[in-house]
Amino acid sequence: MQVKETKKKRKLIEKEGGEKIMDAKVKQFMEGVIKRNPGESEFHQAVQEVAESVMPFIDANPKYKKAKILERIAEPERVIMFRVPWKTDKGEVEVNRGFRIEMNSAIGPYKGGLRFHPTVYLGILKFLAFEQVFKNSLTTLPMGGGKGGSDFDPKGKSDNEVMSFCQSFMTELSRHIGPDTDVPAGDIGVGGREIGFMFGQYKRIRNEFTGILTGKGLNWGGSLIRPEATGYGCVYFVEAMLNHLGDSLNGKVCTVSGAGNVAQYTVEKVNQLGGKCVTLSDSGGYIYDKDGIDANKLAFVMKLKNIKRGRIKEYADKYGCKYVANKRPWDVKCDVAFPSATQNEINKEDAKALVKNGCIAIGEGANMPTTPDGVEVFQKAKICYGPGKAANAGGVATSGLEMSQNSLRLSWSREEVDKRLHNIMLDIHAQCVKYGTSGEHVDYVKGANIGGFVKVADSMLDQGIV
Ligand code: NDP
Repeated sequence: MQVKETKKKRKLIEKEGGEKIMDAKVKQFMEGVIKRNPGESEFHQAVQEVAESVMPFIDANPKYKKAKILERIAEPERVIMFRVPWKTDKGEVEVNRGFRIEMNSAIGPYKGGLRFHPTVYLGILKFLAFEQVFKNSLTTLPMGGGKGGSDFDPKGKSDNEVMSFCQSFMTELSRHIGPDTDVPAGDIGVGGREIGFMFGQYKRIRNEFTGILTGKGLNWGGSLIRPEATGYGCVYFVEAMLNHLGDSLNGKVCTVSGAGNVAQYTVEKVNQLGGKCVTLSDSGGYIYDKDGIDANKLAFVMKLKNIKRGRIKEYADKYGCKYVANKRPWDVKCDVAFPSATQNEINKEDAKALVKNGCIAIGEGANMPTTPDGVEVFQKAKICYGPGKAANAGGVATSGLEMSQNSLRLSWSREEVDKRLHNIMLDIHAQCVKYGTSGEHVDYVKGANIGGFVKVADSMLDQGIV
């Protein structure tokens, strides 16, 4: 009996010792990253999360360590920063800053969205580009990782002003992108309107009709299902996590944040699978509609947000439901939560409230919407936590399908694209299960990080020290 106890204790001490050594290695690695990228807290956060998952894996596979793969993955291949001058309707000159981070091209041309939002700076775009590398790898398609954008705020600007800005932005960006080099798409503040203005300008400058952007209009090279893809994909991923436990979304009450592209199509797909979404939000606050946001109400939201460009409060005014200003919807009781607005929108307290209220699954439509201590709460509670780089990969996957159709000069049907999207999401889920299962539980963070890492790392090894 005593011998058994002693053995158990020794094992525990060895395990704890091993964990301490690993923590020290991650800390040392992160000190280097922070020193080289001062003040870029979102980038540090994203790298740390990946380092914690992949360091033990790298330790067990010394070929990656020897080639300094993690150090190289955390360093962008190229960072482009440029001036974007444009004129307001009143004839005043404005100056914004434009960026493109070309992070990693080991498995294909750089691919990732453009974000137009006043909070945009190098740290946000580097975190997004870094995440994109792993996400794109998980999709099984040949796409490297990149991200770009500007601190320009489209909110409150006329169509003419947005066009003036987009044309100036593309005048410089056009020197750096190409169908086999770097293919941007949309993100926050960049939807069909902005992609159209930028595509038009590229064509005018280069005299080329080619697939340099995805998220294009259907008449000029876009793919069916691309607008729906991120939201639909996220819901398919959550359905796969629940199916893995013998459950499903049918009958589940869901909270959704945001009211843009990702949030809208999340609501649509949840409705189709028999669930009920009760919240939406924007930077002003959230609405709570306990009866559910059905197809008619969703059509109102789409018109409000995509055409009128109004505030979500107008939903509460129209349907007489609750509106809570300056707050996020995480204390509303739900079975499943879909954060679909922006980074770090669920903190530790929000995560605790969700778990306490019985939430069993999280599908991150947004990129890195949960703070590290929030993630810890979900992990400890062992609920199904689908991190953004897996759960929201459907958008870029369908962008990859748009690129394939452009190369083939063909358009696939809605059913064909949706079927491929669905299969890709199931494939991503399977990779997470493969690399993240321990005992009965699937750690989707670990699964997504290691699953995404292996393909990129092996390709980098094949291609030498570049
Ligand atoms: P949209 O611009 O269409 O919508 C963004 C929504 O989030 C708006 O309702 C906006 O409100 C709200 N929002 C943005 N910033 C904040 C903030 N700081 N605080 C509160 N609310 C905020 O963007 P998308 O729907 O395309 O993107 C949403 C998220 O999904 C982002 O994290 C993006 O990176 C991620 N994503 C998007 C993909 C895509 O294909 N579009 C692919 C993968 C991930 P308001 O209008 O008031 O600013």
